[in-house]
Amino acid sequence: MRLLVTGGAGFIGSNFVHYMFGAHPDWEIDVLDKLTYAGNLDNLSALRGRRGYGFHRGDICDPRLVDRLVGDADCVVNFAAETHVDRSIMFAGDFVTTDVFGTFVLLEAVRKHGKASFVQISTDEVYGEAGETPPDEDSPLMPKSPYAASKAGADRLAFSYWTTYRTPVVITRCTNNYGPCQFPEKLIPLFATNAMTGRKLPVYGSGRNTRDWIHVLDHCRALDTLISAGRFRGEVFNIGAGEEHSVLEIADMVLKALGRPAGLVEFVPDRPGHVERHAVDSSKLRSELGWAPKERFGDAIRSTVLWYRDNESWWRKLLARRIDFSKAFSQGTGAGRKTHRAARGSARPTSSAGPKGRARRNAAAKKARRGKTR
Ligand code: NAD
Repeated sequence: MRLLVTGGAGFIGSNFVHYMFGAHPDWEIDVLDKLTYAGNLDNLSALRGRRGYGFHRGDICDPRLVDRLVGDADCVVNFAAETHVDRSIMFAGDFVTTDVFGTFVLLEAVRKHGKASFVQISTDEVYGEAGETPPDEDSPLMPKSPYAASKAGADRLAFSYWTTYRTPVVITRCTNNYGPCQFPEKLIPLFATNAMTGRKLPVYGSGRNTRDWIHVLDHCRALDTLISAGRFRGEVFNIGAGEEHSVLEIADMVLKALGRPAGLVEFVPDRPGHVERHAVDSSKLRSELGWAPKERFGDAIRSTVLWYRDNESWWRKLLARRIDFSKAFSQGTGAGRKTHRAARGSARPTSSAGPKGRARRNAAAKKARRGKTR
């Protein structure tokens, strides 16, 4: 079996590549990754030179490259995406390009070659508010952020390739993952690294918003279960551990694990469109394929936090790349910021040419840099 794993240098993708080589030592895995701010070759360095492993730096939006790599694959697992809700509020266009158009490019190549199956890594965020009852796979999609909406577009595009062309597809909607190697802008590594560097832990609004948390290895096991079962019939599978916890509870657990004071929590203005509750009903995967989470939440959160404590050299160099969204949102939602590159001030314009457009971009880049973590 030869997998093409897109986004394999990111958090979940890299954990998945390591997990799959452990579970199936004779499988081959090619990684395709653009190495955006979130992609990190350190996550895969232990695999350099391993038989059956290949790394390809490139964009899933590049049809020629994608066509070549998909042609060699038996199964494509699409993790590649812009993934941070906060960033999507400021740079929505990047999300539409990678998450929707990039998925289209991959699906077209899969359809054309007629050989590989396709796993679309979607997210529970596509449901929007979970409400009283956690959504099952037939619940309506009501995404509330540009990230979630872009993922919903890709999710339904993958489904349409099954219904229209019988492309063998499966779509997974997993809840919030935690574990090693997550970019330190996301909640748990942000809290852990801030606590270790004497910074405040920014909590949006009341901090009572809840998420359903799953250890990244349980997510990988669920994906392995689906791939190994060959279940590619255009279906959706929710993946969740049923561990719902508020942001304040998570902050408390992180601080306790590191022995830091509760006073480090700082309430900041809420972000626009903030979902109160994300959760899923994952009984379909459990009853039909026998999957169940193995990691125990309290222990696994603690060991995750301790992984960041013990791997300071991994995250220290990433701090310069992160943006302080708590500051950015208190100054407005960043209208006029077009791309990540523009926000870093290093970009050539991607739209609105001319002196006025340039002035707007320069102002946006300056504003974003002011909000950046130093
Ligand atoms: P991440 O941001 O850590 O990694 C994304 C990876 O994709 C990075 O390595 C990045 O370089 C790469 N990438 C981005 N744009 C690309 C492009 N155009 N071409 C090629 N590579 C590109 O994200 P993650 O948290 O590991 O999430 C992986 C997938 O899982 C995403 O599709 C996300 O929507 C989904 N997901 C994440 C969670 C979660 O809690 N993190 C939960 C459910 C689903």
